[in-house]
Amino acid sequence: MKLFSDKNACCGCGACADACPEDAIRMEKDEEGFAYPQVDQTVCTGCGRCVEVCPIGNDEGHSQEGKIYLGVQAKEDVFRFASSSGGMFSVLAQYIFRHRGIVYGAAYDRRMEVRHMRADNMEQLDAIRRTKYVQSSLDGVYREIEGQLQKERWVLFCGTPCQGSALRLYLKKVYPRLVIVDLVCYGVPSPGIWASYVRYLEEKRGGRMQYFSFRDKGMRDNGHGRSYRIDDVSYAGSLYKDIYCMMYFKNYILRPSCHHCGFCRTERSSDFTLGDFWGIERVRKDMDDGMGTSMVILHTRRAKEIWDDIKDQTRWFSCKREEILQPRLMTPTEVAKGRGLLMNLYKVLPFSIFLNLAGCMIGCRERVK
Ligand SMILES: Cc1cc2nc3c(=O)[nH]c(=O)nc-3n(C[C@H](O)[C@H](O)[C@H](O)COP(=O)(O)OP(=O)(O)OC[C@H]3O[C@@H](n4cnc5c(N)ncnc54)[C@H](O)[C@@H]3O)c2cc1C
Ligand code: SF4
Ligand code: SF4
Ligand code: SF4
Repeated sequence: MKLFSDKNACCGCGACADACPEDAIRMEKDEEGFAYPQVDQTVCTGCGRCVEVCPIGNDEGHSQEGKIYLGVQAKEDVFRFASSSGGMFSVLAQYIFRHRGIVYGAAYDRRMEVRHMRADNMEQLDAIRRTKYVQSSLDGVYREIEGQLQKERWVLFCGTPCQGSALRLYLKKVYPRLVIVDLVCYGVPSPGIWASYVRYLEEKRGGRMQYFSFRDKGMRDNGHGRSYRIDDVSYAGSLYKDIYCMMYFKNYILRPSCHHCGFCRTERSSDFTLGDFWGIERVRKDMDDGMGTSMVILHTRRAKEIWDDIKDQTRWFSCKREEILQPRLMTPTEVAKGRGLLMNLYKVLPFSIFLNLAGCMIGCRERVK
């Protein structure tokens, strides 16, 4: 079976690998550090299931009609301060736990690699809170979620729109207890480069990384700080002086598929879409306290029913579509002109030399701050 004619179209969701009844597909990293499916043709029976679940070209989205656009802040300060935006994800998770359900989101494993994991209660939720600017692996997660739904448990899944769409296609049927939450998505950077960056910081600091926040709110600036901890020592600085973050924001290390992503729109096949409320200072200045506001779109009847149940736990306002629009709800992120060159350097150079050259190319001089 041939999964795609253009490798650059594959978003790396991994649904094909979970869907294959023969376990003929493995996700393997390429030289840029992104995972792609590899089919063992000696085992493949040609059943076509892997193609059916692929979100590229198969996702229809919902119609525009009847959507509700909101600005939301969790009333519980702990939720909002510990989250990337206004903490809406935590309020939704709490709803699911009240129904004895399970929540899936992106977390760091012991090696600081990012993968989707489950949380069964509020204590476990913190690991899957907050934005990780790294592509998350969903290896085995589609199968696990299907198993939980078959046991009639409530399940909330939160991820990028391509992952949410892949999950819906994977499941084939509609489960009344499944809630799919997707994000406004700038694109995902290379897990291979992230892993090298973690090892680089560990070597420089002489210890083991325990934590990394891409959206630290210590400066009350809506999460434009980044902080990390190595061997119990914390380091904090601006997102815009961190070389990894700058390679990401300047569009050098995104997955190729993200530069022509079909999910940069308000039509989605999810129940909820969450993002940062860009322009909160224009729309509701009184609510802009620097600690984050979530932009929320309710797409489905289920989302509206859940929202009616949880809205009292938030400060919120409704708004027009024009007020929530931001670039990643209209067009994909443009590719940096020097991306090819930078990636070629990454493939051949020792990582510390690569970082020095990358810093010169993108105008980011600080390394270990
Ligand atoms: C790679 C990436 C790019 C983004 N780009 C934009 C953007 O351009 N504009 C915008 O408005 N918002 C963007 N967001 C969304 C935003 O950063 C917040 O995640 C969102 O507003 C939810 O915040 P919260 O306070 O409700 O919850 P939080 O507690 O911050 O929850 C974040 C949720 O995102 C999930 N998540 C975190 N990292 C990943 C990952 N790597 N892959 C999949 N799921 C993940 C977590 O599991 C959790 O469920 C992006 C998020 C990611 C992960
Ligand atoms: S066609 Fe069927 S057996 Fe072959 S890789 Fe796809 S899902 Fe697996
Ligand atoms: S299902 Fe996902 S990983 Fe598999 S080919 Fe399609 S986009 Fe790529
Ligand atoms: S930008 Fe598009 S293709 Fe890339 S991770 Fe986000 S939703 Fe998937």
